Amino acid sequence: MKINEIYQSIEGEMSGHSQGALTTFIRFQGCNLRCDYCDSKFTWSKDIGEDNWSPKEIVDKVKEYGNENVTITGGEPLMQKRGLISLVKRLHDENCNVAIETNGTYPLPKKIIEDDVYWIVDYKWGMNEKQKDTIFGTINNLHDGDIVKFIIGNKEDFENAIRIKDSFDMYLIQEDQPKFAFSPMHGKLSAKRLVSWLLSLNEADKLNLYLNTQLHKYIWKSTERGV
Ligand code: SF4
Repeated sequence: MKINEIYQSIEGEMSGHSQGALTTFIRFQGCNLRCDYCDSKFTWSKDIGEDNWSPKEIVDKVKEYGNENVTITGGEPLMQKRGLISLVKRLHDENCNVAIETNGTYPLPKKIIEDDVYWIVDYKWGMNEKQKDTIFGTINNLHDGDIVKFIIGNKEDFENAIRIKDSFDMYLIQEDQPKFAFSPMHGKLSAKRLVSWLLSLNEADKLNLYLNTQLHKYIWKSTERGV
């Protein structure tokens, strides 16, 4: 499998793990999107990064760090679906709590949906129509404990995100809904302003809606991630 890095840090954002939880991150190489605000552009190309990690080698490295929480991120992990399925199975065999971050433009593999993982689906602006259809189906497969994230850079993003959330509210079962997490775009929108917009919403729109701050960006410079 093509992996960019495996490292340990704190869980900086809302995910299946508590924010601040000691966590090992497995960063997959390769992404099918090119978001303007991407803070992981080094993962875009499929041609760089260490190749040929087997799931067993990855799990051995995870065990060295000794954190029970594991977050799989990228890049886009679902571009290496076969390896991902096998990796998740091995991580569960080691009793790890697994969260997977995806941009939602690939359908979630049924084998992993049925496993006990937390999905974090990052709704990206600038998807094409086909990708929007896919993410719509993906979000309808999410459950309580999963998270849909929106990065908010301005009021227009905010209003669009609320409109999209409303369109899912009609389909999702109230008691089994994912959380919807709004993150201020670092350096572009303050958390304070975003919170004031969130609090001004009506009761129905506020349901399952959370502020998501990126704790690691308050601790380290953007080029640092942990130890
Ligand atoms: S989906 Fe994620 S990794 Fe890919 S370009 Fe967008 S922000 Fe970057």
